This record gives sequence, C-alpha cells and structure tokens, in this order.
Amino acid sequence: MTEDSKFCTGCGRGLEPGMQFCPQCGRVVSGSETEEEYRQKAVEVEQFLAESRFNWVIFALAIYAIPTTIAGLLLLIDAGAMADTVWSNADFQNWVISHDYDITVDSVQNYITIVAGLCLASGLCALVSMACVIRRKMWKIAVVACAAAAVLCCWSLFGIFIGLLMAWFVYSLKEMFSS
Ligand SMILES: [Zn+2]
Repeated sequence: MTEDSKFCTGCGRGLEPGMQFCPQCGRVVSGSETEEEYRQKAVEVEQFLAESRFNWVIFALAIYAIPTTIAGLLLLIDAGAMADTVWSNADFQNWVISHDYDITVDSVQNYITIVAGLCLASGLCALVSMACVIRRKMWKIAVVACAAAAVLCCWSLFGIFIGLLMAWFVYSLKEMFSS
C-alpha cells in the first residue's frame, strides 16, 4: 500500500489499513481489492457491450444484404417479364397517358434493369462488408464496402442514411478487428 492510499481520495479522511470503503464518504479505497474487483467488472461489461455491438452490426448487415442481393438478382433475371407486367397494367397506362410521358415497354425494362443492378451491387457490397466483420479482418474493406452499399442504395435517401450510419458503426469497431 502506498503512502497516499492512507487518505481517502474523495474526502481526504485518514484510512485504516485494509479498509475497502471510506467510512466518511463511501468511496472505494484506491488500491484496495474492491477497487480491483470493480475494475475487473468494468472490463467485463465493456467487453460484453463490444461483443453485442459486433453481433448487432452483423445482424443488421445480414437483414439488408441477403434480401437485397436476392431481390436484385431475381429482378435482373426477370426484368423483361416484369416490364411486361407493369406495361400491361391499366393504371400504369392511364398514368403514362395522363402525363403524356414518352415511355415505351423498353424504357420500363431499362429502368427495372438499372434498379435491379444497383440493388444487386448494393447487396453484394453489404455481403462483402458482412463477411469482413464476421471474420474480424480487413477493417478498411468492411468500412468502404458498407459505405459503397449505402451509396448504391441511391433510389432511397433513407437507405443511404441508414447505410452510412452502418458504415460509421463498422468504422467504430476498428479495435476489434485483427487487420
Ligand atoms: Zn472519503
């Protein structure tokens, strides 16, 4: 026990050897076993929270990446049929006529193909980011891929916002990555 540990660091009261708490203000005596125990507990809680954050990020990336990739892929394969369905819809026809838009079935298909491609690219980027986070490797790629997934989600401002927020979360996990 050091010289200064004979006085409470909170109120300055003199302390007997072996005291764990200051009898005057209740502060844990510095250098005592209780303080060491508290420090250990704090470290455990910190680790638990970090693990939870990690799992949460993986979960959030998965619920975005998997359906987005599948939807993008299916839409890309089926863009022609999808365009025909949209095109033959009476409400769509009325909407085109009422606005006097110069839209053809091909332009509908092109539009669907572009959206599907963006969807697929965004989903794949999110998958790459997720794989890096799971393996706790290539932190930079995890951050960049997550940001790319957000930017590619350009049909939705909300999507971009959430995606960039996710990229920031991945960024904040740096010390938990091995590379
Ligand atoms: Zn005290």
